[in-house]
Amino acid sequence: MKIIALGSPGVGKGTYAAEITKKYNVLSISTGDLFRENIKNETELGKKAKEIIDSGKLVPDEVTIGMMKERLGREDTPNGFILDGFPRTIPQAEALSEFSEIDLVLNFKADKEVIMQRLTGRRTCSNCAAIFHVVNIPPKQEGVCDKCGGKLVQRSDELPEVIEERLKVYEEQTAPLIGYYQEKGLLKEVTVNEDFGKHKEEILDRIFKVIES
Ligand code: AMP
Repeated sequence: MKIIALGSPGVGKGTYAAEITKKYNVLSISTGDLFRENIKNETELGKKAKEIIDSGKLVPDEVTIGMMKERLGREDTPNGFILDGFPRTIPQAEALSEFSEIDLVLNFKADKEVIMQRLTGRRTCSNCAAIFHVVNIPPKQEGVCDKCGGKLVQRSDELPEVIEERLKVYEEQTAPLIGYYQEKGLLKEVTVNEDFGKHKEEILDRIFKVIES
């Protein structure tokens, strides 16, 4: 099963992708996580990406496409994958179609206020990248990852002015992918306005039904 998770920053793609991974035993691949790993390890790619990510803009297509081509070329996805955050532009989608087939594109939607609340309250594990939220998905112990005990941090691109820029970039460069994949007959929509912490089973049921329909 080869799935793309599409949707605005803050809609919850990473959280849903982690659950889809557990249920269908597919690999979740997040371009944002790959970039942050490179930044943490101070690689050449990380050095190129850091300033761009902190400004809320997109890393250039050729860099992102090269990274994903290499990642998907590794033979560690026998049951398929879910892509979280890729493609984010039409040229990326066109490049992807040359090196991988896609079965389904899930377009996650939520109201703007819900998205802002999710983005400003999100906390990410600095060690394993697990995602929490101060209200919607609180960790058992404040500031500490339930999964690995790592420190939870607010990402540097989650400051209010950077969030505004990321949402603008999404509208201009990523939202056109909705029409692109609709035309190919691959798009299905899932609206998730509820808190994940309180409505987890109901939300997952909705997502899994769409995947299996
Ligand atoms: P995310 O964790 O998916 O919100 O991504 C964080 C940041 O990484 C984005 O705001 C971009 O700067 C960069 N990024 C992630 N995915 C892509 C992509 N497919 N193309 C370009 N930049 C990306």
